[in-house]
Amino acid sequence: MLFSELGLGPDVLRAIEDKGYTQPTPIQEQAIPCVLQRRDVLGCAQTGTGKTASFTLPMIDILASGRARARMPRSLILEPTRELAAQVSESFETYGKHHKLSMALLIGGETFTEQVKKLDRGVDVLIATPGRLIDLFERGNIMLNDIKVFVIDEADRMLDMGFIPDIERIVSKLPKNRQTLFFSATMPPEIRRLADAFLTDPMEISVAPPASPAETVTQAMVLVHEMDKRKALRHLLQTEDVKNAFIFCNRKRDIAVLQKSLERHGFNVGALHGDMVQSKRTETLERFKQGEITLLVCSDVAARGIDVQGLSHVFNFDVPLTPDDYVHRIGRTGRAGKQGRAFMLATPDDTKLVGAITRLIKREIPMIAIDGLETAEFGEEDSSSRGRGRGRGGRAAKSEGRPPRGGREERAPREERAPREERAAREERPVREERPVREERSSRDDRPVREERQPRESLAAAEARRNNDPRRDRDRDRRRRRDDDDDDVPVIGFGDHMPAFMLRSARPRPSAETSTEQSQEG
Ligand code: AMP
Repeated sequence: MLFSELGLGPDVLRAIEDKGYTQPTPIQEQAIPCVLQRRDVLGCAQTGTGKTASFTLPMIDILASGRARARMPRSLILEPTRELAAQVSESFETYGKHHKLSMALLIGGETFTEQVKKLDRGVDVLIATPGRLIDLFERGNIMLNDIKVFVIDEADRMLDMGFIPDIERIVSKLPKNRQTLFFSATMPPEIRRLADAFLTDPMEISVAPPASPAETVTQAMVLVHEMDKRKALRHLLQTEDVKNAFIFCNRKRDIAVLQKSLERHGFNVGALHGDMVQSKRTETLERFKQGEITLLVCSDVAARGIDVQGLSHVFNFDVPLTPDDYVHRIGRTGRAGKQGRAFMLATPDDTKLVGAITRLIKREIPMIAIDGLETAEFGEEDSSSRGRGRGRGGRAAKSEGRPPRGGREERAPREERAPREERAAREERPVREERPVREERSSRDDRPVREERQPRESLAAAEARRNNDPRRDRDRDRRRRRDDDDDDVPVIGFGDHMPAFMLRSARPRPSAETSTEQSQEG
C-alpha cells in the first residue's frame, strides 16, 4: 500500500516523501484512514512500529483547516515522559513543515513563562505531560473545551507512573464531542477499562502481540556473579561491534557509579536519568544522537519510546524488575527493520526475574559464557552478592535466607546481617538505596505487589470523599513532583483516589486471567 492511498492531503504527503518513507507501516495503514474519518482509535502498538506518525500525520490534515484561539488549544496529546513529549513535537515539526500549525510543548522542568506565552498566542497542537498540564490549567492559563482531537499515548506507562487520576481529571475537562486516540503497548484489564471509559465505538488496531520483542533483536544473557558484572560488561563492550548503546541500570545511583567506572576504563560514556535537570537530559540525549557520546548509562526513563536511529546495542546491566520493561528496553534497538543486539547480565539472585521475562516473551534467552569469567548457575546462592549492601531485604539478604524453591522468601534475622554501610565499606562498594515498595515482589507470581483494591463505592461518594480529603493536595503535589522525576519512582497505586474507570464493569473477556480478576473484584 502507498501513503497516497490513505486519504492524506498533498502537503502531508510531500513531507512524508521529504522524510524518505516509501511505505506506511501496518499501524499507519490501519489507523490513518480511521483517524481521517474522525473515528476513535484504540491502538495496541509498541514504539518502533511507526505509531507516532499514525496519529500525527492525519491530525495535521484535520487541523489544517480552522484557527486556534488564545489559551484554547485544538488538540491535546498526553505523553508520560518529557523525552517522549519532545519526540512527538519533533514529529509534528517534521511532518507539518508544509503547514502553518502552531504547537506548544508543556513539560515539567522548564519555565512556565515561555509555555504560557505560546498558549496565549493560541496553539493548534498541545503536547504535554499530565502534571504540567494540570498546573497550567489550575493557574487559568489554559482552557480545554475546544479540544477536537485528544491523544493518550503509552497508556500502560501512564498507569505504571500513577498518572491515571490526573488523566481522568483532564478528560473530565474535555468536551464530550471530541475524537479520542488511545495507544498502549500492552492491554491489561485496567487499561482496557480506561479505554472503555474514554472511547466511543473505537476502531481497535493491534499490530503486534502485546509485549512481543522485535524479531530484529538478537538476545543473549550472561549469568555471572554480582562482583563480575562490570568485568562482563566491559568484555562485551570490547568484543561486540558496538556503534552506540544504552546500558540500563535499575537504580539511579548505580548509574553514576557505572558511568564513572566505564570512564575510568576509557569508554566514551554519558548518563541519563530522571534526577538530572531537564536541560542536561535534553543535551545528553542530543549528544548521544549526534554520536558525540557512544554509551549512555540510563534508567528506564530512556526505555520507552526514545528513538535513536540505528542504536546497535542494548545492555541490561541489571535484570529489569518487570518483564515489560525488558521488552521496552531491548526495543530501543533493532528498530525500523535494522538489526540490533541485546545482552543481559544476570546473577543467580535474578532467577525469578529472568523467569518472568522468559514467560512473557515465550522463549528462552540464549546464555553465553565470557572468557575468563566463571559462569554462575541459577538458583545457587550468589556468595559474591552476600553482604554487598543490596539494602533492605535486597538480593543479598534474600540469598542469605533463601528457602527451598517455591517457598516464601524471608529476610535473614537482622543480627545476622552486618550494617549495610559496614559491608559496603569492607568491600569498597557503594551503598545501595533501599528498594522502593514497587520492587517488592509477590513470591507467587513475580509481579510487583499492587495495593489492595479499594471497596466499590458510588461515583458521587468517591468524588465527595476526594474533595473533602486534605490528603488530596498532598497526593496531587506528589504526582506533580513525579512528573518532574518521571522514572523509577515507586508506584503508589491509586492512593486515596478512586478512579472512575475502576467503577465500571470490564468488558467480558474470555481469558482465565481476566475472569479471575473480575471475580476477585466481586
Ligand atoms: P515510532 O513507533 O513512532 O516511535 O517510530 C519508530 C521509527 O520509525 C521512527 O524513527 C520513525 O521515524 C520511523 N518511521 C515511522 N514511520 C515510518 C515509515 N512509514 N517508514 C519508515 N520509517 C518510519
